[in-house]
Amino acid sequence: MKPKLNIVQLYPKDMNIYGDWGNVLTVMRRAQWHGYEPVLHEYNPGDALPTDTDIDIVIGGGGQDAGQDKIQADLIKVAPKLHELVQADTPMLVICGLYQMFGNFFRTKDGHEIKGIGVFNLETHGGPERMIGNIVAHSDEFGDIIGYENHSGLTYLSSDVQPLGKVIKGAGNNGKDEFEGARVRNVIGSYMHGSLLPKNPAIADWLIEKAATKKFGDFTPTVIEDRFATEARRIALTRPR
Ligand code: GLN
Repeated sequence: MKPKLNIVQLYPKDMNIYGDWGNVLTVMRRAQWHGYEPVLHEYNPGDALPTDTDIDIVIGGGGQDAGQDKIQADLIKVAPKLHELVQADTPMLVICGLYQMFGNFFRTKDGHEIKGIGVFNLETHGGPERMIGNIVAHSDEFGDIIGYENHSGLTYLSSDVQPLGKVIKGAGNNGKDEFEGARVRNVIGSYMHGSLLPKNPAIADWLIEKAATKKFGDFTPTVIEDRFATEARRIALTRPR
């Protein structure tokens, strides 16, 4: 029997736009290629988080302001469990709307506050215009990170939070400080949809490596033939903003 990796997808009904579901598919498929049996647990408001088994990877997507409003109370309810997982170094990836809500708050342009759970010490303020288009950021660990952004929120990191990368093309967190995304322990937050992981397999493998090492004590990667991902990255890098 292959070793199991349990993946929780947060709020697929309300927080899952611009291809974010592809992140789950990518982690599942690459986990299989690396010799694991991925098990997906979809978590929507009112569900019970798995308690009978480990939670090895957590993935969440973006959403409209209305979707963020809808999940707010439930996210706050499960926040203690999520914080426990963060402290235990569980790898997580949260995109856009959930990235904002893993921060302290998102205050929309008209002053409506959507509360966050403070995994990241950051805040987000609705800006006057949407930031839409292709985006590339550079990280020393992952190289060029390629995606597509569509958000109005302007996110500002506190000085104790590391960005995921430095913006090369696009707006990123706020269009000004050249930061994109955030990192704390094994949690990655990012504005990049597209979806992110098919074009950035290094991040998918990092999530799997962190999960496998934590659960089984080691990770021996399979050499994956990434011809299509490499070609997709090459073409995506040539796209205009
Ligand atoms: N509603 C948020 C914003 O516009 C998040 C959007 C998203 O997840 N794409 O900033």
